[in-house]
Amino acid sequence: MPLLPVEERVKSFKEIELGYSVEQAIKEAGRCLQCKEPLCEKGCPAGVGCKAFIEQVMLGNFDKALEIIQAKNPFPCFTGRVCAEEAQCEGQCVLASKKQAIAIKALERFVAEHGKANWSEEKTNGKKVAIVGSGPAGMAAALDLKKKGFYVEVFEALPKLGGILGWGIPEYRLNRHSVEKVVKDLKEKGIVFRKKERIGFEKKLNVLIKDFDAVLLAIGEGKAKKIELPGIEKQGVLYWDKFLQGFGTGEKKLDGKKAVVVGGGNTALDCARVLRRLGCKATVIYRKNVPFMPCNKSELFHAMEEDIEFKMQLVPKEFLGKKKLEKIRFKKMEIDNEEFVETEKTEDLEADICIMAIGQEYDPIVANGTELEGKEIKINGNKTELWSVFAAGDLTNQEKTVIHSISSAKKAASEIETYLNEKK
Ligand SMILES: Cc1cc2nc3c(=O)[nH]c(=O)nc-3n(C[C@H](O)[C@H](O)[C@H](O)COP(=O)(O)OP(=O)(O)OC[C@H]3O[C@@H](n4cnc5c(N)ncnc54)[C@H](O)[C@@H]3O)c2cc1C
Repeated sequence: MPLLPVEERVKSFKEIELGYSVEQAIKEAGRCLQCKEPLCEKGCPAGVGCKAFIEQVMLGNFDKALEIIQAKNPFPCFTGRVCAEEAQCEGQCVLASKKQAIAIKALERFVAEHGKANWSEEKTNGKKVAIVGSGPAGMAAALDLKKKGFYVEVFEALPKLGGILGWGIPEYRLNRHSVEKVVKDLKEKGIVFRKKERIGFEKKLNVLIKDFDAVLLAIGEGKAKKIELPGIEKQGVLYWDKFLQGFGTGEKKLDGKKAVVVGGGNTALDCARVLRRLGCKATVIYRKNVPFMPCNKSELFHAMEEDIEFKMQLVPKEFLGKKKLEKIRFKKMEIDNEEFVETEKTEDLEADICIMAIGQEYDPIVANGTELEGKEIKINGNKTELWSVFAAGDLTNQEKTVIHSISSAKKAASEIETYLNEKK
């Protein structure tokens, strides 16, 4: 995939992957061996028909290619940008070990940009479904349910639609235009979006349960997991959610600051790459070592190219400084019996800013006013304990990725359809 030169990248939030031209895409698709048993499809959590769509790209039938992808994944414009291809489809490609895997992710993005989608809708069936959350899970379920003739209303707490894709994943990996285009398209299909409606606060879940035939919770896990450590309240220490909300667009500058990010996932790397673009010297600290980092390998590679420093086998223990952060004290980790264990050895790092990106959780307010208020929402598959309330996306998934969210939302939509058909 063609890339913006590294000197340009680190100064701007412009998308760094440039996308294939028609000639490049057809040439790349032409390398596909069209295996009898396409392992790439087994590697895709949504089971996209990679072999068939690549063949259509090779033949120049981009509309057909899009139809094949969208049978399993309505939003290749997202997944073609952010999927962990090396761990999924491309990791399984037989060419991966011989030469170079087919660039399936880049081809998917190409198809999203060059294919024209087909849309057909069943007759309105008079049933109403409320979806809480407008992230990829909420949007994917909304689309499937609308197609089946349901009236669909999506309730979103924030003033922006799209979930983490609308405010979390920075523009240099996923441009906001792609998100806005999908939202516009869904609105044109008759899906109703209600912004600034935080369920459990502005409106209660019980009201949705009463007013709609079924409810889908697609609320994600967009809140940072907190940790108690001495000095964490110091000025300059922030959690990833607040940092990306406040600084993720690149409007503010932090020139010359020393920044440390704690964590090893995509979120940590995005924070570090945003800090770098804002003018900081950024260091990522992880408690294990590089092969254990859960981030996409492509993101790690790009972060290294962008001069982000990595320090492994350290865990933060104390934040030092008067009012403002000056230094972070870490404990060193060692490998003992194939386990990473904390030692008493310490290391101090000077820092003006520290971003904690050590995990995520859902906003429990959604259950306020129901029998689950203050309790954990227990979910079995796509069904919650509450009558007629289903769940999908990060809230239900072990693997918190866009494609897993889409896949679980499609399952939830199908379960809702079965449930409502049985109810009549
Ligand atoms: C910085 C970052 C980088 C990432 N990078 C990648 C990547 O490269 N590849 C990848 O596949 N995945 C990545 N992910 C994960 C991916 O973004 C999530 O898996 C995906 O967005 C989950 O979709 P979702 O629809 O379940 O939830 P979300 O996208 O979180 O959307 C949930 C929506 O529900 C709303 N909501 C919550 N509570 C309420 C309420 N009570 N009432 C109304 N609305 C509510 C939220 O405001 C939000 O808009 C990344 C995540 C982060 C944070």
